[in-house]
Amino acid sequence: MEANTQSVIVVHGGAGSWDTDEERLVQALRDCTAAAAAGRQLLVAGGSALDAVEAAVRVMEESPVLQAGRGSHQNCEGRIQMDALICDGATLDLGAVAAVELLPNPISLARAILDHSPHTFLVADGAMAFADARGLPRCDLSYLLGAEAPDGETLTVAEPSPGVGDTVGAVALDGRGNVAAATSTGGTKGKAHGRVGDSPLIGSGGYADNWTGAASATGHGETLMKVVISKRVCDFIADGLSAMKACEAAVAILSERVNGVGGVIAIDIRGGIGFAFNTPAMPYAFAVGTGPVHAGS
Ligand code: ASP
Repeated sequence: MEANTQSVIVVHGGAGSWDTDEERLVQALRDCTAAAAAGRQLLVAGGSALDAVEAAVRVMEESPVLQAGRGSHQNCEGRIQMDALICDGATLDLGAVAAVELLPNPISLARAILDHSPHTFLVADGAMAFADARGLPRCDLSYLLGAEAPDGETLTVAEPSPGVGDTVGAVALDGRGNVAAATSTGGTKGKAHGRVGDSPLIGSGGYADNWTGAASATGHGETLMKVVISKRVCDFIADGLSAMKACEAAVAILSERVNGVGGVIAIDIRGGIGFAFNTPAMPYAFAVGTGPVHAGS
C-alpha cells in the first residue's frame, strides 16, 4: 500500500492516583512527551505503527515515575511482576506476557512473541525462558525499583492498596494506514503474587484493528477487563463515533456499569485522536505527522 496517510501517535502514562500539583506529574508529562517524540520519529521516517508503539512504550518503561518496567510497583511479596501486550491492527497478530520479572522492557518480550512465537501469550517462567532464548536483556531488582530505592537497597514489601498504578500505553497510525497498540504495566500496588490485570488481555488492555482503530487502557484492571474496554472503544468507532467520543462512551460504561476507575486512549483509522479518564489525571501526549508533541493530563 502507498504511504499516503498522515501518521499519528498517542501515548498515556496511566490513570493512577495522580495529585495534579505534584512534581511527579510534571516528570510524567516530560516522559510521555519523549515517548511520543520517539514514536513520531519512527513514523515520519516511514516506520510502522507497530515499531512506533513499541519504541514509545520502551521510553516510558525506562521512566522511574511511570509504573511499567523501571518504577513498577511491588506485589504483596515485594516482587515486581509485569504484564505487557502489543497488537498489530493490519494482521490482528498480538503478543502478550504476564507475571514476568527482572526485565527492563516487557513490551519487547511481547513483541518478540508476536514476531517469533507460534503462541500469543506466555506467562511467568515460560515467558522468561522465551526471553532468554531470544537474548533479551535482563536487569536486577534495584533497577526496576527505580526512584523508590537506591542501588543495593534491600527490598521492602509494599502495603497492599486498592489504588491503581500508572500503566503506560501507546497507539499509532502509520503512513500506510496501519494501526497498532501497546500497553505495559507493573500492575496494582501490593497485588497478590500471580495476579494479572487487564493490561496484557487482548481487547481489555489494548486492541488494534485496521478496520476501526486502536486503543490502550489503564486503571483498575479487575473492572476494566469486565467491560473489555479497548475492544469496546473500537466497536464504538465502528458504529461511527469519533475516537474521542468512543473513549468518553467507554469510560462512562466503566463508571456506570462496574463502578470502575481508569482511562483509555485511542486513534481511529482516519487519524482522529481520543482520550478519556475518570481519575484525577492521566498524562498523555500526541503528535500528528511532523507536527509538535502536545501533552496534557
Ligand atoms: N490496569 C493496570 C492493572 O490493573 C494498572 C493500571 O493501569 O494502573 O494491572
